[in-house]
Amino acid sequence: MPTSEISAEPTEPVVAANSSFSAIAAALRSAQTVVVLSHVRPDGDAFGSQLALALSLRALGKDVTVWSEEGLLDKYSFMPGGELLTPPPAEAQTFDLAVALDTAVPNRLGVAADAVRADTWINIDHHPTNPRYGDLVYIDSTAPATGQILFELLHDQQLPIDAAIAENLFVAISTDTGSFQYPNTTARTFEIGAELLKCGVDVGRVSQLLYESYPRRRVELLRELLGTMRFQADGRVASFSLSLAVASRLGVLPEDNEGLIDHLRAVQGVVVAVFFEELLEGKVRVSMRSKSEAADVAAICQRFGGGGHKLAAGARVRGTLAEVEQRVLEAICDVVNCNS
Ligand code: 5GP
Ligand code: MN
Repeated sequence: MPTSEISAEPTEPVVAANSSFSAIAAALRSAQTVVVLSHVRPDGDAFGSQLALALSLRALGKDVTVWSEEGLLDKYSFMPGGELLTPPPAEAQTFDLAVALDTAVPNRLGVAADAVRADTWINIDHHPTNPRYGDLVYIDSTAPATGQILFELLHDQQLPIDAAIAENLFVAISTDTGSFQYPNTTARTFEIGAELLKCGVDVGRVSQLLYESYPRRRVELLRELLGTMRFQADGRVASFSLSLAVASRLGVLPEDNEGLIDHLRAVQGVVVAVFFEELLEGKVRVSMRSKSEAADVAAICQRFGGGGHKLAAGARVRGTLAEVEQRVLEAICDVVNCNS
């Protein structure tokens, strides 16, 4: 027998088992004070998951706290229970239970994590790069949104799902699937969408609030970004960038640029789209999207200290805008040229 067949070395990476939904539900039911957290630069899945779980726990009579570094963002102010979202206080607070949702690594919890003292941490997420921090962990990288995992948890464990909770879950799933379009959208995602509509979600109203209510500032920002657009690797790589100077001239808020990268991804022939955003303190936020599993942008972002999913990932990279653009675009062009 060849030695390779008797080798004790596992050929597949060992994947730790998830905690059961019943164990997670038992922890939720037995706690009285719960803090619900998500990642910095929150998106619809972050807020939607936080608010859905918070409202479900409140319906069970729990004392629920929901923290997010910048509080509720304007564009999500229609979300039911949005007023629960507050910035964390400077003084640490003690809870029976802390829940981290949609947060690939603990440091993406931001300053909120420093304000939490809790005996037990639950970590529910769909990022494959999640290092499984916490006491009870449920990571499903096949789920297109953390909101989808939460629906399964609430539904399976008969935790409350009313119209307000359903609307938050719908926002979470709709935004992370690009309105049920990205390849991670499954038959189950549509079934859950149908269930949420049966719970009372008005899909036309919510979609209009999400996708047809942008401030004019955002379109002015898009005009500037398109002015910096460039294509490389025979049109397979597209990028644009935002300097601090332009951001301050237009008065843009960080949330204004969410989703603008989709304009690059939507171009025929583009495989990888990249958005560079100059930040204070000599760093650049890099946001990447891919249209092909062969161009794994999470792997590229991990090389720069970031992470995410194969088709959507990001990193914060030290350097000037021009330096980071050059280094990152070189890394992407290597991958795109090698894999195509
Ligand atoms: P976005 O481009 O929308 O900011 O992020 C896309 C995906 O990449 C999200 O799933 C997000 O969690 C992940 N991501 C973005 N920035 C970072 C980062 O700095 N570090 C890690 N680990 N993941 C990131
Ligand atoms: Mn998500």
